[in-house]
Amino acid sequence: MAEGSIFSKIIKREAPATIVYEDDDVIAFVPNRLQAPVHLLIVPKKEIPTINDITEEDAMLLGKLFLVAKKLAKENGIAETGYRLAMNINEDAGQSVFHLHMHLLGGKKLGPMVT
Ligand code: 5GP
Repeated sequence: MAEGSIFSKIIKREAPATIVYEDDDVIAFVPNRLQAPVHLLIVPKKEIPTINDITEEDAMLLGKLFLVAKKLAKENGIAETGYRLAMNINEDAGQSVFHLHMHLLGGKKLGPMVT
């Protein structure tokens, strides 16, 4: 599932990406298809396919994703104007990469969530 996904390759530097943040547990990079002027993916290095697969032991890691999102929103100048954090889970939400990730979207007035 998450194992061997494109995100694992990016983490291992086996595939290219513009990395904007990294620590021991989390990496953030620019997606290859931008959906907003600011669009970043915040990804735990741990290979978790979807939110359906998280456990209690991932609580701290999930909290870290939000702390990185807050930092990157500020660095990109959208903390005050506004931004969206989103996760797609499985088919109906359009998840295409089965390695848990949070989208950080902003830099323009965003449309409604549900389309
Ligand atoms: P999802 O649809 O699963 O919520 O989001 C997948 C995200 O991964 C999309 O933003 C897509 O642009 C991004 N993505 C997919 N493949 C690659 C890749 O090879 N490189 C990068 N940088 N982003 C990717």
